[in-house]
Amino acid sequence: MDFLNQEFYNLIDGALVKAQKGGTMNIINPANNKAVAVVPKCTAEDVALAVAAAKRAKNSWKNTYVGDRAALLYKLGALVAAHAGELIPMETAQYGGPVSKTSNFDIPAAIGEFELMAGMGRSVTGTTITADPTARILTLREPYGVVGLITPWNFPLVTAVSKLAPALITGNTCVLKPPSCAPLTVLKLAEYAVEAGFPAGVINIVTGPGPEVGEAIVTHRDVNKISFTGDSRTGKRIMELASGQVKSVASELGGKNAMIVLDDAEIDAAVETAAYSAFFNSGQNCGSPSRFYVQEGIYDEFVGRFVRAAGKIVVGDPTDPKTMMGPLAYNACRDTAERYIASAKKAGGRLLLGGERPETPDMRDGAYVCPTIFQVYDNRQEMMQEEIFAPVVGVMKVKTADEAVDLANDCRYGLCASIWTRDYRKALKLIDRLEVGTAWINQHLKIVPETPWGGCKESGWTKENSMLVFEEYTFHKHVWLELSEQPHTFWETMLDLN
Ligand code: NDP
Repeated sequence: MDFLNQEFYNLIDGALVKAQKGGTMNIINPANNKAVAVVPKCTAEDVALAVAAAKRAKNSWKNTYVGDRAALLYKLGALVAAHAGELIPMETAQYGGPVSKTSNFDIPAAIGEFELMAGMGRSVTGTTITADPTARILTLREPYGVVGLITPWNFPLVTAVSKLAPALITGNTCVLKPPSCAPLTVLKLAEYAVEAGFPAGVINIVTGPGPEVGEAIVTHRDVNKISFTGDSRTGKRIMELASGQVKSVASELGGKNAMIVLDDAEIDAAVETAAYSAFFNSGQNCGSPSRFYVQEGIYDEFVGRFVRAAGKIVVGDPTDPKTMMGPLAYNACRDTAERYIASAKKAGGRLLLGGERPETPDMRDGAYVCPTIFQVYDNRQEMMQEEIFAPVVGVMKVKTADEAVDLANDCRYGLCASIWTRDYRKALKLIDRLEVGTAWINQHLKIVPETPWGGCKESGWTKENSMLVFEEYTFHKHVWLELSEQPHTFWETMLDLN
């Protein structure tokens, strides 16, 4: 399926428009490397127009009753639901996520995010402070004004909605840049935003290369806040650029997440979750476990069963409802995975499963890599340190739970981790020492919008989802109302007022 007969537009100042200079980009289906759509390729000129529109709209949007802002978010969510039939194959075609994922996860998650944020965001409050009886002291929650939202391709629609919805409900106006390889469903959102009746300039969507369009958003003087999800290297570049104007940056970055399986783990649950969470979405999840530390008493059984289960994952055409794992998002992702596989072999890793492309006629032209598992003997190897963002994982044998936690912490990332044991007391003590933003006990990759998501270390320190996300889109303005008629200062006996 392709969308070559459809026009895709950016949204600037309430109008669906092409790029000012007429540039376009081809969107390629990674399952067969054929073009599926053509979208605008913007420049800094388009960003300037989008920011100017967002700036013009910001005061009236901030001063719109929150219930009315919520009503528009509900409408946008309802339009996503109404157009699910169009969005599901589009999401699949642009980055290879199988329809079993795009229909069961992406579209419901996007709708749920709009609904949750529209509901919760209505009760965002400031505080009152009772420190001084001669005054009433409060904090007002203010939107930042114009916010720049820059999103990745691994959940193209959901990552955009999970920034857009909290930003809008708290009264910010937005300039959103989706990923260049997979912008289609976000561009459909642009159309739905017009249909829903969002005022001009409140939502602006521009497509184009990160180094030009993304950086133009980050460095624009009228953008006060950046919310970015993507690779840690890009996150560092954005923080560096934003520091020039002391801009606030929320960053959700890469992960190299550990799954720790102890001798007393419930093995059926651990094996099933390991196979699912490591290989769902071809392993292209910031929260996927890609390092397994398995205690020696359970090692052979767990690893044997994990390898067998992963070997049964159905890899193939992402439009087939039976497919569990499609291609990677584009050829360069496959090439990166293959480089890591070669280097793991060279470093002495033992290949337990996969390590190759599925060479069937229907998959030969696509960006596929089979589920791949290495036994690794050294935690400093790339396989246990670098985010590969592919269905490629390493397993290591450990003697004790403490050793597993030490190895898990020996990594520059700190997004999430899980511990598998029947002993919750032990697990809670271990979690105290884990350097991560999310820790599961007997679960992995379960992320629901009511719970906070975000990491520490080079995974970034901010939060998405839950009530905590509103901290990222508002700042606290402190207001002091003096009650005493004559404020007393240290100078009252020193300063001659006459
Ligand atoms: P990238 O960092 O390559 O790209 C993310 C976005 O940043 C894209 O829109 C990209 O544009 C843009 N961009 C690229 N360079 C710049 C720049 N110099 N200035 C401004 N913007 C720029 O990440 P991927 O799209 O490859 O996504 C995968 C990464 O995202 C993984 O590391 C993954 O772990 C992380 N991620 C983290 C999550 C979390 O919650 N912690 C959730 C999901 C993903 P363009 O497409 O044009 O290059």
